[in-house]
Amino acid sequence: SAKESGEGYRFFTEEMNLRAVERMELENSLRNAVQNDELVVYYQPLVDSRSRILGMEALLRWQHPALGLVKPSVFIPLAEETGLIVPIGEWVLQTACLHTKKLQALHHRSLHVAVNLSARQFREPDLVACVEKALRISGLAPECLKLEVTESSIMENPEEAIVKMTALQEKGVRFSIDDFGTGYSSLSYLRRFPIDTLKIDRSFVSESLANQDDQEIIRTIIMMAKNLNIETIAEGVENRAQQEFLNCQGCRIMQGYYFGRPMTYDDFRDILKYNLE
Ligand code: C2E
Ligand code: CA
Ligand code: CA
Ligand code: CA
Repeated sequence: SAKESGEGYRFFTEEMNLRAVERMELENSLRNAVQNDELVVYYQPLVDSRSRILGMEALLRWQHPALGLVKPSVFIPLAEETGLIVPIGEWVLQTACLHTKKLQALHHRSLHVAVNLSARQFREPDLVACVEKALRISGLAPECLKLEVTESSIMENPEEAIVKMTALQEKGVRFSIDDFGTGYSSLSYLRRFPIDTLKIDRSFVSESLANQDDQEIIRTIIMMAKNLNIETIAEGVENRAQQEFLNCQGCRIMQGYYFGRPMTYDDFRDILKYNLE
């Protein structure tokens, strides 16, 4: 949208090496962002092979009063460094669960929501309690929540990761591995973790029609996942040709601009009306 390519975003992307003063300013305003209601959760549809919406991924945006819509690539790294990602992440989790419960009631359909967990959040000793609280507050069924973690955040401390993931899995919560294929781990290693879904990284999908190697990587991931009874989601699907290729390979769930961009809760609620279950 025009907003996303507006001045504010460009300002920050060109100034990735923020000077100390700017960094402090940004940090202070981020600290206030939660209280000032400047953070917004956007939703991007997850669809099946017939383009029916099965759920959505919650994606954070910062509606800055002066800078406009700031993308997560700009402020998530800072939020990670300062630890602000912990309260922010808890807020995203609660908001996404509440919104999902509301949508289910409004449309009388089953929907699941995927929420990103940063490495820092994953490391928190009370992660399990934090997730349980979001489910309790919202009344959302645990089966409708998927937590997206990266390979590197679970590999940081695999033993601890297994304990936390298993505790949540026993409640019904599911896990996806985000950006799969960009890390170094093998699927056989990942098998030790209770993983429901692999999200094939956008970089493979965007190259999939031009690049034989990327096609081979996608095929291999899907085939191995199938053998291990793990679901696959392709992210970054931007056109029909990519959709068809992925369909042929047996990838069941897709996400990308071709089906819908990340949008506000209100917009997502409205498009659900026209999307048959
Ligand atoms: P991600 O988890 O890999 O999310 C997918 C990103 O791909 C999103 O970028 C989404 O807008 C973008 N995308 C989706 N479909 C397409 C497509 O067809 N083409 C292209 N070019 N891009 C597509 P976004 O929203 O800017 O988020 C960037 C990253 O910020 C996310 O990557 C995630 O790592 C992080 N992030 C976003 N929200 C949260 C959050 O609530 N908590 C945490 N910890 N991280 C978040
Ligand atoms: Ca994600
Ligand atoms: Ca991803
Ligand atoms: Ca990514």
